[in-house]
Amino acid sequence: MISVSEARAALLQLISVTEIEQVPLAEANGRILAQPVSAVRDQPPFSASAMDGYAVKRDEVELHAMFQVIGEAAAGHRFEGRLKAGQAVRIFTGAPVPDGADFVVIQEDVDRRKDLITILDQPGASDNIRPRGGDFTIGQTVNAPRPLRPSDVALLAAMNIPKVPVYRRPVVALISTGDELVMPGGTPGPDQIIASNTFGLKAMLEEFGAEVRILPIAKDSDTSLKMAFSLARDVDLVVTIGGASVGDHDLVAKVSADLGMERSFYKVAMRPGKPLMAGRMGKATMVGLPGNPVSAMVCGHIFLRPMIQSMLGFEAQEESLQTATLTHDLAANGPREHYMRATVAAGEITVSPRQDSALLTILADANALLVLPPHAPAQRCGDTLHYLPI
Ligand code: AMP
Ligand code: MG
Repeated sequence: MISVSEARAALLQLISVTEIEQVPLAEANGRILAQPVSAVRDQPPFSASAMDGYAVKRDEVELHAMFQVIGEAAAGHRFEGRLKAGQAVRIFTGAPVPDGADFVVIQEDVDRRKDLITILDQPGASDNIRPRGGDFTIGQTVNAPRPLRPSDVALLAAMNIPKVPVYRRPVVALISTGDELVMPGGTPGPDQIIASNTFGLKAMLEEFGAEVRILPIAKDSDTSLKMAFSLARDVDLVVTIGGASVGDHDLVAKVSADLGMERSFYKVAMRPGKPLMAGRMGKATMVGLPGNPVSAMVCGHIFLRPMIQSMLGFEAQEESLQTATLTHDLAANGPREHYMRATVAAGEITVSPRQDSALLTILADANALLVLPPHAPAQRCGDTLHYLPI
């Protein structure tokens, strides 16, 4: 058995970064920027008014000063002339500031009679002008890799970048194995249960940035499993669920070996999730997850997440653990790293008394996995421990 961090390192050896593709800006949200992109213009491209008011010369601004209004500048329509002493141009937010003007008196501070304005309130210190390039200038870059959020998409749009280089989403095929499994919405026989892991993992992997295909459930037979694998050609990652243990009906190791899987490792010193295997299978990477629902989901967090992130061009990082204070005593750990379902609130962590890896209700109520290293001694109420937020 290898340790969790050895397994993670071995998994990262099995994958490579996906290619770069160009996507339209409107589809870029949530994707990973793959190359730096640069602004092809200044923003704003001219000095622009930040308010509705009157453009004047700053030197002439004082209480009771009067100006003659000689024209108008609106957003999209500049005033073509040049402002001279004693003159003002009616101006609106987003309009270019006319030549000769360097101050905008807001309209609330002004009294207007025909074409004459008088400053009635002391204007503030702000010139109410957004300088050219005040947001960004030509050549300013957004660095990669970077997950694109809605605000990034707005920035790239303003930079006039209509297509964005992003990493192709890794394609993952999920194969549930087991004669007992029926798809949600199906009609289970008396000895059957609903396949849940596939759906939990699909949701999780999509959050990590993958494109996920759920393949038909494989029965516990060589032929059925081979058939499922044959549908998973051309994907980046094949993930099987269940059948990875050493029972008579656990066929994943045997069948994947028959199909030429070069196994990297089998079994990890962790709870839950021990019977985990991985290797190369043709062009794809294959990971065999244990079938117990909580085990499969925990392995998704611990192993599949760094794999997907690495395929998306991110430096593989150790999971970022946080700390909280234990609200009760906790027994010593055995030889395997234990990821215990727990709840964190206001800096305090409470471990669920029920840790059976089949209990999805407990997992759904948990917001943390308390991480106990192998052979960790007994912990006391008030001790500070590490956890992974989930
Ligand atoms: P296995 O690893 O195949 O021995 O499965 C371990 C346990 O997980 C068994 O109780 C299976 O019924 C259950 N199991 C396996 N695959 C799934 C799945 N896709 N969804 C829900 N439970 C599963
Ligand atoms: Mg099974």
